[in-house]
Amino acid sequence: MNLLLIGAQGSGKGTQASVLVKRLGIQHLSSGDLFRSAIDQGTPTGLAVKDFIDRGELVPDALTIQLVVDQLKLPEFQPGVILDGFPRTRDQARALDKALAELGRGIDRAIYLHVPREQLMDRLMGRYVCVAHQHVYNLKSNPPQVAGVCDLDGSELVQRSDDKPEKIERRLQIFFEQTIQVVHYYRAQHKVIEIDGNQPIASVSTELLRGLGVAAEGAA
Ligand code: AMP
Repeated sequence: MNLLLIGAQGSGKGTQASVLVKRLGIQHLSSGDLFRSAIDQGTPTGLAVKDFIDRGELVPDALTIQLVVDQLKLPEFQPGVILDGFPRTRDQARALDKALAELGRGIDRAIYLHVPREQLMDRLMGRYVCVAHQHVYNLKSNPPQVAGVCDLDGSELVQRSDDKPEKIERRLQIFFEQTIQVVHYYRAQHKVIEIDGNQPIASVSTELLRGLGVAAEGAA
């Protein structure tokens, strides 16, 4: 099964991706994580994208498409993939469909996690991630047991450089102007499952799995 998770920053995509990985046994592929690891490793791609990411702008389509499509050919993504953060533009969506068709595959469902803009701002301002594995916390809705420390691996919690207020505003603007076009694109293919992301995490998961026609047991 090849799935897309579409949602603005702070909509809970990462959290729901973990639920889907466990429940469906397919791998998660996040374009943002790919870029961040390229930056950490100082690769040519990392150097080319760092400035865009720090400014909260989209990385140009050509670079992004190449990076993600190369990954999709890896063996671990052959049984299926949960794509998170890609595609973010109509051109990326078209390129993805073309690349998957060449691999004899296609997108089965595009899941849109809908959360109102004001709520997203609130969520993102309180978001912290651990330095070791990018586990996500929220000071209001999902705080760590010990302040500043990841519950899962004990590493330090930090705010992402693009989670500063003015950058958050810009990223949300890009989402509601450009990425929403990807929802329209897959809606025309009758592949969109729209989920209300403004409810407790477990309820979102239940609705999501129901939408995919998968039993909720084992979701938690
Ligand atoms: P994310 O973790 O998904 O919020 O991604 C972090 C940043 O990486 C974004 O703000 C963009 O600068 C860049 N990025 C991630 N995915 C894409 C994409 N599909 N197209 C363009 N830029 C992207």
